[in-house]
Amino acid sequence: MVHISDLRSFRFCPRIYWLSTRERRQAFHSFISMLEPMHQMLIKKLDVKDYFSGRQGMDAHDSLNAIQANEWCFNLRFEAKGLRVKIPGLHRVEEGYDVYFTSMSTWPKIEDASYYANHFWVLNELGIKIHKMYIMTFNKEYVRQDELDVDRCFNLSSDFVKQSGHVQGDVYGIVSKKHKDYTDILASMEQTRLRVDYPITLDDCPNPIKCDHFNTCFKDMHFPDDSIYHFSAVDRKAWIAEGKTSITEIPVEELMLSKAQYAQIMAAHLDGRFVDQRALNHWLDKYEGQTLSFVDFEWDTFGIPPYPQMRPLDVVCFQYSLHTIEDGLIHHREFLGQGDCREEFIVSLLNHLPAEGPLFAYNAFGAEAIRLRQLAEQFPQYQSALQAVIDRFVDLALIFIDGIVYDSKMKGAYSLKRIIEAVNPELSYEKLAISHGLDAVYHYRNLSDDEEQDEVREALLSYCRMDTLAMVKVYQWLKTLV
Ligand code: SF4
Repeated sequence: MVHISDLRSFRFCPRIYWLSTRERRQAFHSFISMLEPMHQMLIKKLDVKDYFSGRQGMDAHDSLNAIQANEWCFNLRFEAKGLRVKIPGLHRVEEGYDVYFTSMSTWPKIEDASYYANHFWVLNELGIKIHKMYIMTFNKEYVRQDELDVDRCFNLSSDFVKQSGHVQGDVYGIVSKKHKDYTDILASMEQTRLRVDYPITLDDCPNPIKCDHFNTCFKDMHFPDDSIYHFSAVDRKAWIAEGKTSITEIPVEELMLSKAQYAQIMAAHLDGRFVDQRALNHWLDKYEGQTLSFVDFEWDTFGIPPYPQMRPLDVVCFQYSLHTIEDGLIHHREFLGQGDCREEFIVSLLNHLPAEGPLFAYNAFGAEAIRLRQLAEQFPQYQSALQAVIDRFVDLALIFIDGIVYDSKMKGAYSLKRIIEAVNPELSYEKLAISHGLDAVYHYRNLSDDEEQDEVREALLSYCRMDTLAMVKVYQWLKTLV
């Protein structure tokens, strides 16, 4: 039996699928926290009282019996030729069945038509005649008050719609045209699963270096820092076919290079490091003599808004770490909350931030600034104070993304983790009990006041502290380059 996620992996790289059949399935953690499952929300949205509800792991034959016996069915599993799908809602009508899907998006995206077509094929194979298809999505306009209003929290649509609101066409009409026969691909997947080995060459790897399995697939290969595999470009495959192995062999004169690509090529030619001295000097000069702050937030995203003034898919910031450098001395502050700690978070942050000076964050405007704008909307009494904080943000990532500094040890990646590995390998995230942002979120979700949880609390604090300490080290390293 395979799921749609397996079908996707197989299409991307058959070896990923083959490897997955040999690993124990990990428990699935969604990065979106849900107070109740989506099918329960669908039942409430449709206001159906009399229905059959399935469960995880149920026999697919039982679903067929259920739809015979009940007008409304929710959360059912169906299977055809080994492909198993979950159908959130089915309603028997005169012309056949109306199918209800749920989406974690705020509009019914036409980009998901292939996903719905997989479900369509399974139902079609089982002889279930589909009359109409609906998609339930979150309503981003909804702002929760004390009680959750399920009807207003969700939208239901039988059309695909653009984010702008432009209607793109009937879901059933588009999906039924898109659906194709999956018999052959399912048979290939089965043959792949049965293989005892799956040798592969780099030429056939669709995601070299960046895939999590790379070290398993190509464990005996060594890629130097200036390897052409670390350079992202549409022509890379062609260059490799011509026998090029190093970034230094890239035909620069034929390309329109971004600043980051230029810096990467220059670093390869300059023994591993490129620094745009003028730009870096100018950037550092702006902050000379000021109190420097380095901040990082952790947050959990909630599909259904759990607290007043939140919209669907808003976040709760539950943690921050703040390092400051003042008169050459480094200080550290931190916060870790539980439950509805939004206001505590704001008050603590405002109390601990120095009154002046730049506020460095990594990807500041794609993350921390957005979180503070959301909090300002939910707590208007702090609006001007939070806006003043946003106005002081400086995105530390831009020094690298804009090609002002590049070290070949970054190997084509611009994450804070990769940069700290390049500039200060001693400070490794791998030594931490929690070393990834999503891990931090999963641990936070289970956090309680229990003393037994002290270790988890310390691991969460260490992880966030590491992010801001890494930024301090990166800033200090940048100063050594001029
Ligand atoms: S490293 Fe390449 S070949 Fe190996 S699983 Fe990943 S994408 Fe497939």
